[in-house]
Amino acid sequence: MVLVAATKNKHKIEEIEAITEKFGMSIISRAEAGIGDDVEIPEDGETFEENSRIKAETVMKLCGKPSIADDSGLMVDCLGGAPGVHSARFAGGHGDDAANNKKLTEAIREVPYGERTARFVSVITLMFPDGRMISARGECCGHMVTEPRGESGFGYDPLFVPDGYDETFAELGAEVKNSISHRSRALSELAELLRAEGF
Ligand code: IMP
Repeated sequence: MVLVAATKNKHKIEEIEAITEKFGMSIISRAEAGIGDDVEIPEDGETFEENSRIKAETVMKLCGKPSIADDSGLMVDCLGGAPGVHSARFAGGHGDDAANNKKLTEAIREVPYGERTARFVSVITLMFPDGRMISARGECCGHMVTEPRGESGFGYDPLFVPDGYDETFAELGAEVKNSISHRSRALSELAELLRAEGF
């Protein structure tokens, strides 16, 4: 099955591909499906589910092919679940990881480690041209640190220590991250749902 990735985020596409290839699905980019780089896809939903659906549906309608979208983010308990659906633009500009991480560490610096619990959430949606939709959610729980550690990954990875580990996602590297991440859990769930649907 060939799916068009709704995201332009190279890191996300790599992570999605590393997992979907195990299920016999290949991913092509929006550009390869003929969708210009200038086409902006709205992300004005209030939940990960809504945004994931909006992205997959918009791309599917633009190119007429099955599309896959991930909407994801970080929910920090002591911040009431922020940055949540606003994770990409927490500090203002879309996808400015350094500014987002700076704003987050300033907000939690005084909070004791034990209370800095958080989770990454990913909702992956597959939208088919015949209107069928399959959507799955994955979560990965952990703690936040206040000094970035590690070089791998993207976004908040240098600040997030998943449960069961002492290193951040950015220190653990792609293989470990892809075996436990919110995105891999959502994709495994999606694969189960696809099997149940007879794919
Ligand atoms: P989206 O493109 O609107 O889904 O934004 C997702 C944002 O959430 C990204 O820009 C990152 O800031 C954050 N995020 C989502 N998944 C991850 C991850 O696996 N690691 C680090 N940050 C992530």
